[in-house]
Amino acid sequence: MSKVSINHIYMNYHSLKTWTKALDDINFEVEEGEFLTIVGPSGCGKSTLLNIIAGLLTPSSGDVYIDSEKLTSVSKKMGYMFQRDQLFEWLTVWDNIILGLKIQHKSIDNYREKINGLLNDYGLWDFRFHYPEELSGGMRQKVALIRTLALNPEVLLLDEPFSALDYQTRLNISDEIFKIIKKEGKTAIMVTHDISEAISMSNRVLVLSSRPATVNKIFKIEFAQSHDSPLKSREEPEFRTYFNDIWKELNS
Ligand code: ADP
Ligand code: MG
Repeated sequence: MSKVSINHIYMNYHSLKTWTKALDDINFEVEEGEFLTIVGPSGCGKSTLLNIIAGLLTPSSGDVYIDSEKLTSVSKKMGYMFQRDQLFEWLTVWDNIILGLKIQHKSIDNYREKINGLLNDYGLWDFRFHYPEELSGGMRQKVALIRTLALNPEVLLLDEPFSALDYQTRLNISDEIFKIIKKEGKTAIMVTHDISEAISMSNRVLVLSSRPATVNKIFKIEFAQSHDSPLKSREEPEFRTYFNDIWKELNS
């Protein structure tokens, strides 16, 4: 049984004068604990697809299943991390992290230990009462991840989570965030337009065509010398080959 199953998803956007066909029969499965990355040309429908998987958007037709259960609205099993960290500048790190719990009317006391553990493990303990503007871009993304993890989702959805960061920070923070996701034992579906990032972090890379998006090909990523670090995987000899193959597929 797959953790997440995407079945014959079609999506059309309608406006008064026109309509846009965004997704055209998307099918794939994601296994428990897997890290799957979706790449595709700009505007092809990646965010649309992720929003549908999150239950934020209803597809024109087709179904998403999580643990064999049909998704009908936003599922508590899914946690969403956006391109920009969406932290509120007037709230401290702590208050940003507990925001989701507050919205869901959860008792913070039941989650305090878990959140403190995350803050401690991931280097943010000393910053818990600081405001977002006092943090670096990478630290802000980590706060955003902890906020998502506090709700204890089983599947993380990440929409270009590193694209607002400079290159150096991006490499380091993607490495750190990958390790956190693995340590917490989450299944992850990430969207990126960065092929290297996709290869370095994923078990499989799914290549979408230009709009309307269809699944062109799914690449299984395996390194003879496996690492728990995307930074190290980038140095493996297979990396180039995967890059060239995916590049060709994207431009075909
Ligand atoms: P990507 O994330 O791959 O860049 P999107 O999923 O954001 O692509 O968008 C796919 C297509 O759907 C684009 O042509 C975009 O203009 C269109 N689109 C996205 N959201 C809407 C919307 N709310 N209404 C109408 N068209 C939309
Ligand atoms: Mg997008």
